[in-house]
Amino acid sequence: MFDPKKIRRDFPILSSRVHGEPLVYLDNAATTQKPRQVIEALSRYYKLYNSNVHRGSHSLSNQSTALFESARDEVADFIGASSPKEIIWTRGATEAANLVAYSYADAVLCAGDTILVSVLEHHANFVPWQQIALRKSASVVPIPLGADLTIDLEKLQQLLAEHQPKIVAVTHVSNALGVINPIKDITQLAKSFGATVVVDGAQAIAHEPVDVHELGCDFYFFSAHKCYGPTGIGVLWGREALLEQMPPWQFGGEMIESVSFEKTTFNTLPFKLEAGTPPIAEAIGFAQALTYLNSLDRPAASLHEKSLRTLAIKRLSEIEGVRLIGVDADNVGILSFSVDQVHHQDLAMMLDQSGIAVRSGHHCTMPLMTYLGVSGTLRASFALYNTEEEVERFALCLKEAVTALTETTSKHPEAGSAT
Ligand code: PMP
Repeated sequence: MFDPKKIRRDFPILSSRVHGEPLVYLDNAATTQKPRQVIEALSRYYKLYNSNVHRGSHSLSNQSTALFESARDEVADFIGASSPKEIIWTRGATEAANLVAYSYADAVLCAGDTILVSVLEHHANFVPWQQIALRKSASVVPIPLGADLTIDLEKLQQLLAEHQPKIVAVTHVSNALGVINPIKDITQLAKSFGATVVVDGAQAIAHEPVDVHELGCDFYFFSAHKCYGPTGIGVLWGREALLEQMPPWQFGGEMIESVSFEKTTFNTLPFKLEAGTPPIAEAIGFAQALTYLNSLDRPAASLHEKSLRTLAIKRLSEIEGVRLIGVDADNVGILSFSVDQVHHQDLAMMLDQSGIAVRSGHHCTMPLMTYLGVSGTLRASFALYNTEEEVERFALCLKEAVTALTETTSKHPEAGSAT
C-alpha cells in the first residue's frame, strides 16, 4: 500500500508551521519539496568532494567528475535516452527551451517558416519561439484546444497540412491545468508532416513515466526542482544526430577543444553545449532525487496524486461559486479553479493565513488565460507526500474564505477586487 505519511517523514519542511498552522503545501507545480536524501547528497558533496569537474589532475576532481557524470547516466536511464551524450545540463527548463530556439531553430528556420505552438504553453515554451520567429521573419501559429482543454488533434492535423511547420512545440502536461496531452499521437502526426517536435516535460517528469523514444519526439526538457531535486539545474534531451548538428550557443571554458587567436574548435557532445563550470552539486542532488523516486512505487504514487485531485474536485464542487477548469481530461494532479465574485489573489492570501500554500495568477500562461477568458485562477497541485487530510483541510478553509470574502463583497461591493 502506498503510504504518503511514511513518505512525508523524508521531507523535513513538511513538518513546518506557517502563521502558527501546520503547513499544507499544495504548490508542487511551482516547485516540489526536497527529501532529506537529496539535501544530504548536496551537503555530502560540499563536505567531501567539492572540486571542479573534468580537470583531471587531482583525486578530488576525479571523484567529483565521476559523481557528476554518473548523474548524467542516471538521467539518461530515467528517460530512456540512447546515450548520456544526449543529456545536456541546463539551468532549467527555461534555459533548455532557449537553447533549442537559439541554437537549433536559429540554424534551421528561414523567412516565411512556421512554428506551431499550443495555447497551453508556459511562457518558457512560448516566448523563445515568438522571439526567434521575430528574428528569422518566421511566424508562430497557435494550436487550439479541444473541449477537454488538451491539444485538439484534428485541428493540429489541419494546421500541419496548411502550414507545413518546421517545428512543433508542445507541453506534455499543462502547468496551469494539469491536463496530459497525447504526446505520442501529437508526435506521430507532426513527424508525418516532417516537423521537428519539441516537448516541454517540466510538469510531466515527476508524475508520468517518460521514455523519449516511445514518445517519439526530437527534444524533451525539464527542470530538476519540479521533480524533488535542487533548483538551478535542468535537462535538455535531444536526438544525438540533431544535437550534433546544433551550433554552440554559449562560449567559454569546457565547451572548447582548442583555442588560438586564429581559431577555436569545439568539444564533442554533450560538452559543446555546456559552457563554463556546470551545476555539479545540483546534478548530483538531482540524481539522488531520481534514485529516491525509483525506490518508490511510482504507478501507485501517481494514482495517489490523482485520487487527491478527485477528492478535491468532490469537495470543491460542494462550495457555491467555485468553477473548476479542465476537469474532463486525464490529469497528473493539478486543480485549477476560480470563484465567482472573489479575486483569486484574495483567496490565496486568506488560505496562506491558514498555512495553506496554493498558487494564484496566470501561472506564466497568459495566452491560455486569454483563451479561457479569465485573468487568472487558483491552483492546487498535489505531490506524492500530500494526504487526504490535507485536501479536507484545504477544502474547509477555502469554504470559510469564500464565505467571508463573499459576505464582504456583498456588504461592501467596492471592497472586492476585480475578478
Ligand atoms: N514549462 C512548464 C510547463 C513549467 O511548469 C515551468 C515552470 N513553472 C517551466 C516550463 C519553466 O521551468 P523553470 O522556471 O524551472 O525554468
